[in-house]
Amino acid sequence: MGFRKHVQFVTSSRKERYMKGKILVIEDNEQNLYLVRYILEKENYEVFAAPDGKSGIETATSLKPDLILLDIQLPVMDGYAVARNLRRNPDLADIPIVAVTSHAMSGDREKTMEAGCNGYIEKPIDPDTFVAKIEQHLPVKLKR
Ligand code: MN
Repeated sequence: MGFRKHVQFVTSSRKERYMKGKILVIEDNEQNLYLVRYILEKENYEVFAAPDGKSGIETATSLKPDLILLDIQLPVMDGYAVARNLRRNPDLADIPIVAVTSHAMSGDREKTMEAGCNGYIEKPIDPDTFVAKIEQHLPVKLKR
């Protein structure tokens, strides 16, 4: 009995450790993607990547991630257009979107919110605060 209880405890804690959530990163810069993936995988998130807006929307549709990290400066279709497109889809409308942008221009935050983003992180990414900022926007069940 005691042994079985122990085994169940180990199994469930291991499951929690490896099932923290699926995060889709829509980012065209390989170095930024590498850093973001490294930080998130270390925190036991499952990371999926798309290099442009079109494939980002396609991946979001099939994957239904728990959160989307959205670069604003993307080729062809910028992040604002991607966010508006995702918000028009009823199946994806509730997924939190956190914009990531290197634009330090005033009005950017408002523009991302108007496009349907829930949060905003400025580049360069600070590895010490990045996960906490993202977790503010994750559903409660996924928080530690
Ligand atoms: Mn970019």
